Amino acid sequence: MGWLQKILIPFLGFVLAFWFYSARDNFKPEMLKGKRVIVTGASSGIGEQMAYHLARMGSHILITARTEAKLQKVVERCLELGAASARYVSGTMEDMAFAEHVVKEAETSLGGLDMLILNHVGASYFGYFNGDVGHVRKLLEINFLSYVAMTVSALPMLKQSEGSIVVVSSMAGKVGFPFTVPYSATKFALDGFFSSLRQEFTIQSINVSITLCILGFIDTESAVRAAADLLLVAPAPRAECALEILRGAALRRRELYYRYGATRLPLLLRDWAAELLDYLVRSRYRLDRLRKNPPDTTPLGTAPPAN
Ligand code: NAP
Repeated sequence: MGWLQKILIPFLGFVLAFWFYSARDNFKPEMLKGKRVIVTGASSGIGEQMAYHLARMGSHILITARTEAKLQKVVERCLELGAASARYVSGTMEDMAFAEHVVKEAETSLGGLDMLILNHVGASYFGYFNGDVGHVRKLLEINFLSYVAMTVSALPMLKQSEGSIVVVSSMAGKVGFPFTVPYSATKFALDGFFSSLRQEFTIQSINVSITLCILGFIDTESAVRAAADLLLVAPAPRAECALEILRGAALRRRELYYRYGATRLPLLLRDWAAELLDYLVRSRYRLDRLRKNPPDTTPLGTAPPAN
C-alpha cells in the first residue's frame, strides 16, 4: 500500500498531467490565417519576429513603433513573406491619444480586430535605482498605461470577434530583479491589471482571452547590449520566442513561459522559498563586474529614434 501512495499515484498524476497539457497543444499555423492582428513594438526585436511569423501564417498585420523607416522595412518584408495585408502607424506610446489612434486604425483599415499583441517597451537604464521618480512615471505610461488604453479601445472589437489580448511581460514582472527597478515595476503592474481583468471576463462570460507572456533573457539587440556582459545565462533566440508567444496566444493560454525551464521552474519556488529564489536570481549576475564598473547609465530597451 505504501509504494502505491509513494510511487504509483504520483506517477499516474504525472502521466495524466502530461497527457492533458500535450493534448491541448494542438497549434496549427492556419489558426492565425486571415486573422487581424496589431503588434506593438514591432520595429525590432521580438515584435519584429512576431510580425514575420504572422506574415508567413497569412494574417492581416498592423504594426506600430516610433521609427518609421524601420516599420516600412518590416512591412515590406511581411508582404514578401505572404501576409494577407501589412501596414504600419508610427508614433510614441507616451501619448495615450496615439495608443487609441492605433486601435482606431485597425477598425478603419481592417474592419475589426482578432488579436491585440502588446509588446512595446520604453527605454530605461540597467543599474541601481537612481531615485528618478519622473522616469518611473514615464515608463509606467509607456509600458503600462498605453497597454491599458489600447485594451479599452480594442475591447468592443475583440468582444465581437471573441479575440485575444497578448501581454508581453518578463520574469522581472513576477519576481524582484535587481538593476531594473522601474522596468520591473511596470511589468508587475501589467500582471495585476490583466490578471484581474481576466477574472472579470470569466465572471461576465466575456470570451476574450488574455495571455500573459513571462519571458527570460532573449537575444534581442537591446537586451544583449544592456545585459549580456553582466548575466551568466545565455539568451534564448528571439524568433523561437516570438513563435512561442503566437502559439500560446492562438491556444488562448492563460500564461506562457519562455523558456519554460528558465522561467516556470524557478517561479515554483516563489511562494515556498522566496529567499532561495532571490538568491538564485542574484547569482545570475556577475556581481564582481558590477562592483568594479557600476552600471548606472547603460540603456535598457530602445533609445529614442533618430527620425
Ligand atoms: P526591443 O527590441 O528593444 O523593441 C522594443 C520595441 O518597442 C521597438 O519596436 C521600439 O521601437 C518600441 N518602442 C520603444 N519605445 C517606444 C515608445 N515610446 N513608443 C512606442 N514604441 C516604442 O525589445 P525586445 O527585447 O524585443 O522586447 C520586447 C518585449 O519583450 C518587451 O515588452 C520586453 O519587456 C519583453 N522582454 C524582453 C526580454 C529580452 O531579454 N529581450 C526579456 C523579458 C521580456 P522604436 O524605438 O522604433 O519606437
